[in-house]
Amino acid sequence: MKQSIKPRPDLKKLEEGILKGDRVILGQAITLIESNLDTDQTAASVLLERILPFTGNSIRIGITGVPGVGKSTFIESFGKYITGQGKTLAVLTIDPTSPLTKGSILGDKTRMEVLSKDPRAFIRPTASSLTMGGVANKTREALLLCEAAGFNVIIVETVGVGQSEISVKNMVDFFLLLALAGAGDELQGMKKGILEIADALLVTKSDGDNIKASREAQAMYQQSFHVLPEQPSGWRPVALTSSALTGEGIEEVWKMISNFSRLVKESGYFAQNRNHQTISWFREYFKLLMESDLQKSKTVQLKRENLEQELVRLSIPPQEAARQLLDVYHQAIRESAT
Ligand code: GDP
Repeated sequence: MKQSIKPRPDLKKLEEGILKGDRVILGQAITLIESNLDTDQTAASVLLERILPFTGNSIRIGITGVPGVGKSTFIESFGKYITGQGKTLAVLTIDPTSPLTKGSILGDKTRMEVLSKDPRAFIRPTASSLTMGGVANKTREALLLCEAAGFNVIIVETVGVGQSEISVKNMVDFFLLLALAGAGDELQGMKKGILEIADALLVTKSDGDNIKASREAQAMYQQSFHVLPEQPSGWRPVALTSSALTGEGIEEVWKMISNFSRLVKESGYFAQNRNHQTISWFREYFKLLMESDLQKSKTVQLKRENLEQELVRLSIPPQEAARQLLDVYHQAIRESAT
């Protein structure tokens, strides 16, 4: 029987292709980093290390909002505006739908049809791998690849219903929240805390009969921003309205983000925030590796199960149980080293 062996990725070709901005190769590289095969992970790490010096030169924008708020329609017209300015744009979409249901909030319809044909744009849904515990760990790596490929603007889109907004907030420079006017509860099922992490809120579909309600919602959100504590960036969050249908407000969003970018670059916050994000990414990744290492050890797993039984019988306090588990883990490491 003929066995199919997966060829080793040609890292030199991938690296050169990315740095030349080759879309096909960029797509292949993203597939490589998304793979959970050990050999691919090793190759992906080498590739990421090689392209790292060429990253960092884009403005990274996170966009979130509940399904139906108009994210893809907005990104389509905002994206066209950006490419119309001669800039290149990559859009990475995260679908946090549970892999168990195999369903998809984002994927089951044709999205951003016009933008996907634009030679200055690159659109890519990224897998929300849960195998490493994080919702968006692959997206950040995909973002770095897109930067090395020379994209000027990178949008990371996520559905505002899960935990993915926080991960996205931690990988972008500017975080934009989309909301609808007049839909009863003004935050429409989103966690209230999300307003606190937004740099701006955009009331979408401000056209036709909806204009008045949109302006009222805008004023209401602007009011809510006033009572929030000042952001570490010194930036005061803004509420705006837009219509992807009429194009109203689209240019203002770009101007606002450019303004933000200029201010935080001048103040030094831009670089400081990116450094902070890199460090917290490293710490997060280390925790994930530790956790998966723990799970690999049979002795540790057995001890953990025993301790959990003791805990519910109230025969050991949690702190002591944790200390004992750590001892067993240390011992397992020593044994595996000998
Ligand atoms: P998403 O699920 O957040 O990506 O939302 P979509 O972009 O798919 O939009 C949901 C629905 O709202 C679609 O039927 C769009 O045609 C409609 N829509 C989106 N933007 C606008 C807008 O600016 N004005 C109006 N009137 N409808 C819009």
